[in-house]
Amino acid sequence: MSRADYTAKTNAEILLMREAGLITRKALNAVRAAAKPGVSTIELDTIADETIRSHGAHSNFQLVDGYVHTICSSINDEIVHGIPRADRVLAAGDILSIDCGAEINEWNGDSAFSIVIPGEADPELVASRQQLSDVTEGSLWVGIAALAKAEYLNEVGTAIEAYIAEKSEEHGREYGILEDYIGHGIGRHMHEEPPVFNYKTRHKGPKVLPGLVVAIEPMVTGGSDKVKVLADGWTVSSKDGSDAAHWEHTVAVHEGGIWVLTAEDGGIAGLAPFGIVPTPIS
Ligand code: MG
Ligand code: MG
Repeated sequence: MSRADYTAKTNAEILLMREAGLITRKALNAVRAAAKPGVSTIELDTIADETIRSHGAHSNFQLVDGYVHTICSSINDEIVHGIPRADRVLAAGDILSIDCGAEINEWNGDSAFSIVIPGEADPELVASRQQLSDVTEGSLWVGIAALAKAEYLNEVGTAIEAYIAEKSEEHGREYGILEDYIGHGIGRHMHEEPPVFNYKTRHKGPKVLPGLVVAIEPMVTGGSDKVKVLADGWTVSSKDGSDAAHWEHTVAVHEGGIWVLTAEDGGIAGLAPFGIVPTPIS
């Protein structure tokens, strides 16, 4: 495996991707602020679309064949690719995963987060869902930290899987890492080579060299990793009905280090526990 497995980006290209990453972040922040009980997922979609357009960018999800929305909104046992709908209204205690991407100047950003909808709800359920989201977010940063030091890309998945297993033991509950859906390279297209696994694989993957830009995106359930696609042809949900969470960042490796393009602070806070300082390109 070599660098030929992906298209390396120049520093100038990574700077353009930072712009796409920050607009993606702004859209996600706007959705997060609006995600309250009584709000429909189509309303969240409109907010994301307006935010992206207001910055002179456009939604790259709308470039996916057959998809007309700006976000994917997946609730509770839905894991990814949930379609925004006017009749899908958020309730307190729901766990909502939002995935979104922006394209500007032909370069892409891609990021996702999960949130437990505030308001009065069963405290035990809320705590369980918050823990699932925290573990998934934690595994994302473990993966990003692994990338910062990795010789080969698949060290990311090895680190994510080990962390999830450790948390499963610690919390005395089952977590399932999806294997049917994984992260990816990103650049001029939202989805590029190489694949980014969230679990240990037999192969080492391509060498991590300056210019590698990937979307790392663990998808984790509170049960089995088995999934089903709903009748709408898009929504991926857990087969056993367990809750799910999804966190994602677009991350660049460059000569000077690592830079989390879809994090406002470039990854400073998320990587601090690992003793890693991200390096912006100036
Ligand atoms: Mg995404
Ligand atoms: Mg992605």
